[in-house]
Amino acid sequence: MKQTGSQHKLNGILEKADQEGRLEREEIVFLLGLTQKSQIDAVFETAGGLRYRYFGNRVFLYGFIYVSTFCRNQCNFCFYRSANALSERYRREAADILEAAQSLAESGVHLIDLTLGEDPLYFQEQGFEPFIQLVKALHQTTGLPIMVSPGVVPADVLSDFVRAGVSWYACYQETHNQDLFTRLRPGQSYAARIENKELACKLGLLTEEGLLCGVGESAQDIAASIEAMRLLDVSQMRAMTFVPQNGTPMQSWERPNPLRELLTIAVLRLSFPNRLIPATLDVAGLTGLQSRLEAGANVVTSLVPPGFGLAGVAQNSLDIADARRTTAGILPELDKLGMQSASTEDYLAWYVDRRRQIRCGLSREKIAC
Ligand code: SF4
Repeated sequence: MKQTGSQHKLNGILEKADQEGRLEREEIVFLLGLTQKSQIDAVFETAGGLRYRYFGNRVFLYGFIYVSTFCRNQCNFCFYRSANALSERYRREAADILEAAQSLAESGVHLIDLTLGEDPLYFQEQGFEPFIQLVKALHQTTGLPIMVSPGVVPADVLSDFVRAGVSWYACYQETHNQDLFTRLRPGQSYAARIENKELACKLGLLTEEGLLCGVGESAQDIAASIEAMRLLDVSQMRAMTFVPQNGTPMQSWERPNPLRELLTIAVLRLSFPNRLIPATLDVAGLTGLQSRLEAGANVVTSLVPPGFGLAGVAQNSLDIADARRTTAGILPELDKLGMQSASTEDYLAWYVDRRRQIRCGLSREKIAC
């Protein structure tokens, strides 16, 4: 049967991606604009194949601890923006965090993500020393790699993180369209976020970048973000659908089409076959896991230990109290998909290899160094 022009073009792009050729902006835009189910499925299938090439049927699991929900900023999309009177604030004690982290470690996660808003306690009052001591203790107690997501911190604090044993620095730009960034994160510096990721990378931390889907970005913007991530040499890239939040300027925003996030995950996998791409539980909970993994994700993020009163981010309570956002909650789902949790050694091997690639100025090339 004769192929349509669109099908012919799709086949060419997917073949190129499968051979790990770099996709052009226009090709990424084309993929993000697909609407036919059979064509979208073909994109997911190629992305899934690339994930399998590098990671087999194994996924990594990340525990999530929201340390402080206080924040000095006013991001228009965020439930925890400082002006939101509906947001419940807490700042957890170190002992509680250590206990929650221990519970996550015992459940079999591969990493612990410590997230906080730009809490004035750290940024203006006490400084970061208490948090750095907490990170040290947590690293020693659990033996797990630590990711920190503290916002845009001073350069010396990034160096302190390295000394405290932190492995990852996450700092989400949300978009690389600077006008849109300013609308989403009013009063914040686009350049400062980028520069912090560059510095973190130079200091030896792996970095995570994040995109928010359905906030007015175009397919061109996502293609530009992929180029920006390549330049930043980020090691993990997250796409996440915007969830309108009560009490914020974007509370009445139309709920975005979930397909945008899934196609973005797939395009990220086609662009960065050997990197880590999250399937977040923070948008649709456990029910959203399968579609994200099928789109090419290989890390289940936002596992929250129940019983500690800890919050999520976009979904601050979904699936937490009933323990569905836990290792035990997701393992049966992985099993149904023919997937399983990776071993700690798998994670460490990926981490060591990725550090080597960055040190040697490589991206995905397998050159001995
Ligand atoms: S996204 Fe982060 S920096 Fe922005 S208001 Fe929310 S917690 Fe604060």
